[in-house]
Amino acid sequence: MAETEIRPTNFIRQIIDKDLADGVHSSVHTRFPPEPNGYLHIGHAKSICLNFGIAQDYQGQCNLRFDDTNPEKEDIDYVNSIMEDVKWLGFEWSGEVCYSSNYFDKLHGYAKELINKGLAYVDFSSQEAMREMRGNLKQPGTNSPYRDTSPAENLSLFEKMTAGEFKEGECVLRAKIDMASPFMCMRDPVIYRVKFAHHHQTGDKWCVYPMYDFTHCISDALEGITHSLCTLEFQDNRRLYDWVLENITIDCVPRQYEFSRLNLEYTVLSKRKLIQLVEEHHVAGWDDPRMPTIAGLRRRGYTPEAVREFCKRIGVTKMDNMVEMGMLEACIRDDLNANAPRAMAVLDPVKVIIENFPEGEIETLTAANHPNDDSMGSRDIPFTRELYIEAEDFREEANKKFKRLVLDKEVRLRNAYVIKAERVEKDEQGNVTTIYCSYDADTLGKDPADGRKPKGVIHWVSASHGVPAEVRLYDRLFSVPNPAAEDEFTASINPESLVCMNAVVEPSLAEVAVGKGYQFERMGYFCKDKASSADKLIFNRTVGLRDSWAKIGE
Ligand code: ATP
Ligand code: MG
Repeated sequence: MAETEIRPTNFIRQIIDKDLADGVHSSVHTRFPPEPNGYLHIGHAKSICLNFGIAQDYQGQCNLRFDDTNPEKEDIDYVNSIMEDVKWLGFEWSGEVCYSSNYFDKLHGYAKELINKGLAYVDFSSQEAMREMRGNLKQPGTNSPYRDTSPAENLSLFEKMTAGEFKEGECVLRAKIDMASPFMCMRDPVIYRVKFAHHHQTGDKWCVYPMYDFTHCISDALEGITHSLCTLEFQDNRRLYDWVLENITIDCVPRQYEFSRLNLEYTVLSKRKLIQLVEEHHVAGWDDPRMPTIAGLRRRGYTPEAVREFCKRIGVTKMDNMVEMGMLEACIRDDLNANAPRAMAVLDPVKVIIENFPEGEIETLTAANHPNDDSMGSRDIPFTRELYIEAEDFREEANKKFKRLVLDKEVRLRNAYVIKAERVEKDEQGNVTTIYCSYDADTLGKDPADGRKPKGVIHWVSASHGVPAEVRLYDRLFSVPNPAAEDEFTASINPESLVCMNAVVEPSLAEVAVGKGYQFERMGYFCKDKASSADKLIFNRTVGLRDSWAKIGE
């Protein structure tokens, strides 16, 4: 797809432009900080395109940093999938992959610095007591009885915590800020807790782990991040972000800016919900083609270009919004319309026998791979006496609007001849099983000589040379625009989100690469699925054709 050369602009880029113009920074350094507790989804793609896109356009740097402070929920498989997905989207991180866990020693040191300054204390209050003392939006909190413990004693208690001398939940380390702050996150937030958990990077070295808010700002500063971009739910936490950096000894002072997260219709983008879909087997896995994950979109047949174009089209603002699924679909359709070779596949086959075509003869026809792009070349397709056409492309009787095959009438076979339906054979239930036709041998690439004008063009596949394939017709996973708003979001899963067909595809499709997009003429865009084997071809429908195309032949 031709991505426009015009750089997107948005309020964050305007801030950067100003910082560079004012000499606040001489270069830009961003980061993408996923927590490795699930697969990346299309919402993450927005953040990836923003952070890596800025680094690219300003000749700056962008780190990939795993925010790995919750060992119990994290997994090395997630780490690997995230690296793969970022690369697939077409981005490269600067230097080595970073992990917040790389900084556990330093973070521990900064926690001690706060303790020494009388700015952090170990609290043995129960969780319930802490909740009560926190107050609420209308009521200020109250100070914990442990708030005035001396720095020396706190230091020794924190060392004991670190040495595993306290049980999980027995105590936490809290920053001493302001229990009356209007920002709840400033009411003496927890910055370290005891957790006897094995960590995918640090093994069993630690039994205390830092909290996100304490870790994130320090990791940013240690990496020399200039602009720390995150989603709006962290707006209040910006106070805490700045407070931590102001109160420890560290050189760099990154600034946090918030933008609105992507919400997409007919799907869910919360990792908790995505995990539920996988664990409860509503889908076949993280890369099920109906999932909004990068892995799912890739398997569905989305290209990195289309996902990047989508992120460009939605832009970056501070406004909460819900993006139409049609916008994402339009991006892949535009890409594949320009770049996908054409092919023919019959999804619901009915047999056609051309009685005046010699039995056993194979005529090799040539078909252009793309109607508007000669550089994509052409391919051979075998034409034989027995063919398949789409069952819905034939009717015994029809009005003029039905521009397909009708008994006693003519239609053009795409890339081949004009045929006429002469009679049909039916099974006991009255279903048409075979359509006997004749063909006009003088109509290859030209209209019939006597001025007859067959209405419509239909696709077909040779019955003897076509290859059986399972075709998986994917649709939106949910049947309501905002499933997250439902009582039980899984109840609104679209029962038609996957329909399997036993199709027949033209022989050239037997050998195509997994994931490469093809337009099955008149049927939509498809790609070969990775589960295909030597004996079984599987194609996934990426997206249907544009609506105007779908109307042809109605
Ligand atoms: P979830 O809330 O689903 O668990 P998360 O925000 O915790 O997602 P992270 O792995 O922490 O997921 O996200 C990494 C980065 O991607 C963060 O900077 C986050 O703000 C951003 N991000 C996550 N979801 C979206 C979204 N829907 N739109 C834009 N950015 C997102
Ligand atoms: Mg997060």
